[in-house]
Amino acid sequence: MESYHFSGLTITLDKEGSREFSKVSFPVRYGRFSEIKTPGAIFQFNPNGEVKYVQGIGQGWPHPAEWLKRTAGNDWIYYSAGGYKGIYDYFGEYYFPCLSYPSNSVIDEDPLSDPSVICAKKSLQELRTKIDKLILRPVPETLKDFLTGVMRNDEETLRRRADQLHRFIGGRVTVLPPDTRHVDYEVIPVIVADGCLYHCGFCRVKTGQDFTPRGAGDIVRQIKDLKRYYGKDLHNYNAIFLGQHDALSAGQELLELAAQKAYELFEFEHSYLKGASLFLFGSIDSIIHSEEKLFESLDRLPFSTYINVGLESNDPATLEWLKKPVSVEQVREAFLRISGINKRYEKIEVTANFVFGKDLPASHLSSLLELIGERPNLSSNKGAVYLSPLMEEGVRDKEDKRELLKSFLRLKTQSRFPTFIYLIQRL
Ligand code: SF4
Repeated sequence: MESYHFSGLTITLDKEGSREFSKVSFPVRYGRFSEIKTPGAIFQFNPNGEVKYVQGIGQGWPHPAEWLKRTAGNDWIYYSAGGYKGIYDYFGEYYFPCLSYPSNSVIDEDPLSDPSVICAKKSLQELRTKIDKLILRPVPETLKDFLTGVMRNDEETLRRRADQLHRFIGGRVTVLPPDTRHVDYEVIPVIVADGCLYHCGFCRVKTGQDFTPRGAGDIVRQIKDLKRYYGKDLHNYNAIFLGQHDALSAGQELLELAAQKAYELFEFEHSYLKGASLFLFGSIDSIIHSEEKLFESLDRLPFSTYINVGLESNDPATLEWLKKPVSVEQVREAFLRISGINKRYEKIEVTANFVFGKDLPASHLSSLLELIGERPNLSSNKGAVYLSPLMEEGVRDKEDKRELLKSFLRLKTQSRFPTFIYLIQRL
């Protein structure tokens, strides 16, 4: 780690962040990064010289332990401690990500429109002007390389880089599984199949395509392209998302190929971060019909695997309301299979999503409790249950959101499973 001081700028190269993702109530940075500190803000850059975190300094900034993060998809996210009021109970994390695009958030905060946050983001431009002058001075080679990288990655370049990422994988990831919170949503996406089986009426993230697996050649091509794309930042990753909405339906062969090739070519064995995680979605059909040997093969991979399945409701009236073409018997069968997999496989956790909203049939919550409430043989610390708020029902004002949060807490206290709210994030 080298540090340089210039008037108004302290530059530290190759800082070492945490090697393990953790759930703590103070700011943590993961992996290796370089930092520029000015009197007004701290800017942190990944090894490619792309800005990743910005944290304001001083009284104007909303909270000294909060920060902005830029994702690989070039979205800015504000990490709010939410006054530390119950955020953990709701989300299983100490920080709440406030997004810069419409989603299903029930937390009524908009720090991204706070003048000090807008100003901190804009000050990146001023920083570049200073670096432009600094770079002309005789400075050590390593510092010059870093500053050149920062200058190269201006706003337009970062936008084009995100477009390139989406081109490599064949489109944007419209939704990440809720379990990716365990790695702060830092996943490399590899698409093994497009579309989905059900085309549910309520869904806002579907692509509308029928389920179509990608070919083996396309999967390997993506992994090679992504390896080049992430470049020097690759060793700051130890997790992949196999997309899109129902990778489990792609079957054992494609899943094994994608996971093994990604582990090998992304060099996860040499990642700066410990362990390796694999995230994917499954569907009711794929979780019911997948053969046991598929899960045996996932359990043998050098990953901790998280499969998230949208069950949505244990109530026939609600399934009809949602226009989800599955029966309640299938939902129950899938839930039982999920519980079995969670018991049987040490390195696999299957989690389930249910919808949550004020206009759903009254029978939805009572039937959900029958499934996740008191059931002596199904208690487990694995198999989290996520409740996904339906925001298109007019749950827009503060009072509605407060009521929804209260009703979530009532349900959580009766659930036998770790239960959290699902915040839909894209990449
Ligand atoms: S909820 Fe899942 S299965 Fe239903 S339309 Fe959306 S992505 Fe497809």
